[in-house]
Amino acid sequence: MQKIIMEIINRIAEIIHENKDYLTDLDRAIGDGDHGINLNRGLLKIKEDAEKYSSLSDSEISNKIAMTLISNVGGASGALYGTAFMKMAAYIKDKENISKNDIPNIFSAGIEGIKMRGKSDVGEKTMLDTLIPFSNYLKENIKKEEKLNIIFSEALEKAKEGRDSTIEMLAKKGRASYLKERSIGHLDPGAASSYMILETITDVLRGKEI
Ligand code: ADP
Ligand code: MG
Repeated sequence: MQKIIMEIINRIAEIIHENKDYLTDLDRAIGDGDHGINLNRGLLKIKEDAEKYSSLSDSEISNKIAMTLISNVGGASGALYGTAFMKMAAYIKDKENISKNDIPNIFSAGIEGIKMRGKSDVGEKTMLDTLIPFSNYLKENIKKEEKLNIIFSEALEKAKEGRDSTIEMLAKKGRASYLKERSIGHLDPGAASSYMILETITDVLRGKEI
């Protein structure tokens, strides 16, 4: 897993870097215009530290990523994404081998962390509107015969629908909620970055044919 985690992290760092200005523009419309900058800073730091990760277990790597996100990203998203990695680390801590059936549980452990930390749920115009439909699809379909990369591709469609559903939503959490009705008509920046993250994970898996 370790190699695949690092490949995913490096690819996510690239994608967020490429989309830094786009994410920041989304956040400028309904927040404070720092989402892309925040995430880019955190991921650059993770990439920098990644060389020191080679002797660590999957769970330890996930914890390091969590700490780096919490202390370098700042803003709501740093704490929320950081908590997700912390909870995923806890879930995989005592597992010797991660099997296909564990994957949905790993995702939902992370998402439960975001829900708890953010006191939020689906339908409030946040990153959860992308993440929860993806995670639910995985949970409901992991037993299918298909390869993991097919199931992920299907789940990604749900994530995209969820992401786009935030456009018409009224924000109930985070800075965007201060705008009340004026938050309607804009894509949520966290929903957009979450989709990029899930799309990157799916792309890496597609390359592996697992
Ligand atoms: P900040 O709002 O502190 O500047 P960012 O701009 O980095 O932080 O991140 C904003 C994103 O964080 C939002 O677009 C939203 O998706 C997500 N977010 C904010 N508050 C919450 C919450 N309580 N629960 C889930 N996600 C949230
Ligand atoms: Mg912001």
